[in-house]
Amino acid sequence: MKSTGIVRGVDGLGRIVLPKELRTSMKLDNDAKLEIFVEGDEIILKKYRPTGSCDFCGEVDDNAIQYAGYCICTSCRKKIGSMKK
Ligand SMILES: [Zn+2]
Repeated sequence: MKSTGIVRGVDGLGRIVLPKELRTSMKLDNDAKLEIFVEGDEIILKKYRPTGSCDFCGEVDDNAIQYAGYCICTSCRKKIGSMKK
């Protein structure tokens, strides 16, 4: 795990603010959801991804397939397949 060097306080309601640069680099838009994990004394935030959601567009597709560790929906498979070399 890599330290960002960023230290933020927790306010009276338990909120913290993720720095804008971090939200941008992690592609977290205003509606992004984070899943909270706990390991020992560490709190880990991960982008929330419903099971079966595409790793490229985030859409949930019952026909999504797993390939090389990625979940790829039907629409993204078509787009990838039509890419020119
Ligand atoms: Zn997709």
